[in-house]
Amino acid sequence: MTSVAARDRRLADRAVRRVAFTAEELGDRVRALGTEISAAYRPEDRLLVIGLLKGSFIFLADLVREITIPLQVDFLVAASYGAGTTSSGDVRLLYDPSTSLAGRAVLIVEDIIDSGTTLKKLLPRLQARAPASLEVCALLHKRLGTDHLEPRWVGFNAPNEFLVGYGLDHAEDFRHLPYIASLE
Ligand code: 5GP
Ligand code: MG
Repeated sequence: MTSVAARDRRLADRAVRRVAFTAEELGDRVRALGTEISAAYRPEDRLLVIGLLKGSFIFLADLVREITIPLQVDFLVAASYGAGTTSSGDVRLLYDPSTSLAGRAVLIVEDIIDSGTTLKKLLPRLQARAPASLEVCALLHKRLGTDHLEPRWVGFNAPNEFLVGYGLDHAEDFRHLPYIASLE
């Protein structure tokens, strides 16, 4: 537990309990992920990086700048319905990538995996569009799902706390924080 005020004056907001990942820790890990991803694909794979909005926007922006092979970027907005009952929890696409996935090496960039329900519903729908490959890079993984979803790349294992910052929100607040913190 790091003293809030010692890390960053913006943490004067009393809602923020402690810094879970500093900006420096995030930067180091994102650089390493960029190196790994760059080595995993060839230029001719025509890598298509798809960020799940809104939470992934900062992570994606930092990550693609650490990837040294040619790539394109698109976004996807998914909304879950019937949350609470995993069986009825359906995922609706509010914004669907305009880019065709067929034959492309597709890398989905997600902010945080909690139960894994969102990705479990989403991935088969994207797989049906016949990408050459379909992988996931998640910044954070809480590993709470019963049947395990293991992305190819994970930034950090996350504590079972409600995290904000670096794109993650609470009721749309805190997305701009350059670090990740847990709320009271
Ligand atoms: P899952 O479908 O894996 O249960 O939930 C994933 C989604 O829940 C994430 O994309 C994110 O929108 C939200 N989520 C899960 N845990 C957290 C958290 O600690 N903080 C925030 N801000 N969102 C979370
Ligand atoms: Mg999300």
